[in-house]
Amino acid sequence: MTTASRQATIRFPYKRSLGPVMGAFMTALTEQRFLGIRSGDRVICPPREWDPDTAADLSADDLVEVGPAGTVESWTWVAAPGAAHPLDRPFAFALIRLDGADTTLLHAVDAGAIDVMATGMRVAPRWKAERTGHITDVDAFVPGETPEGGGGAGAEEPVTMMEYDAAITYTLPITPNEARDAEWVAQGRFLGLQCPVCGRTYLGSRGYCPVDAVELGAEHEVELPQRGTITNFTIVTPVQYPGQTETDPFPRVHVLLDEHDVVLGYQNLIEVPVEEVRVGLRVQAMWDTTGDAAELEGWIPTGEADVEDPDLVNRIC
Ligand SMILES: [Zn+2]
Repeated sequence: MTTASRQATIRFPYKRSLGPVMGAFMTALTEQRFLGIRSGDRVICPPREWDPDTAADLSADDLVEVGPAGTVESWTWVAAPGAAHPLDRPFAFALIRLDGADTTLLHAVDAGAIDVMATGMRVAPRWKAERTGHITDVDAFVPGETPEGGGGAGAEEPVTMMEYDAAITYTLPITPNEARDAEWVAQGRFLGLQCPVCGRTYLGSRGYCPVDAVELGAEHEVELPQRGTITNFTIVTPVQYPGQTETDPFPRVHVLLDEHDVVLGYQNLIEVPVEEVRVGLRVQAMWDTTGDAAELEGWIPTGEADVEDPDLVNRIC
């Protein structure tokens, strides 16, 4: 049996400041130069603001030029590169000790074939034509003593910031219950599954009753109501970090559905100013039915009187 699945991606786009040492290192890369930093009788490359062994402060005044050629100290072969790898053909990741440095720099070696790779081999950088002040300004290292590529001028201004766009894509299986739940939602309906032993009702994507360890399936389906009561809420105040798309504070509410003992968490509440969001507010589901599949837009007030029940706040699930 093949299992249905879907892909999901979480992204963390952000910027970081580089500081005086890494900033100088990145700026030098745009000039096709490598900098290390002197700490006692050794030179650390890539440079750091602290000695990794003694934790002593290191100063940008102690930056020294190293390389550009170096020696492979250790390596591993990547036979089948993926989308996130620096090269689209087989290559080596290597720890490279640049000439004049005492520590190693991690980078790719574009050797062409695994047989070419050896610990102790000499390598030199192949610079990109366009350099931005990032370790990828070096396209890869290549066997030999002579740098390749490059050209053009270095950065006009010192490089002080670096953009990160970390992301992870993963595959999730879709269970039969989740598939049916999605079908119901596409019709603007909430699927519930009722345990035949204890009678508790769960959201339709659930696979089992955790109390009785009973598997739940199509034979346990019930339709959940479209109305409920807010039991808890959070006002989210968006911090304006780079990549943030929200500008104004907005609520997320927990809704206890009528008749069945089911709470929908972190729901969107619409048409209610944040200062009027409250526990006990009666709400109903609002669906966007303009597309092929209905989508839950959020919840709007029904206009009914608030529910006065001090136990409501204990219901977050
Ligand atoms: Zn049960």
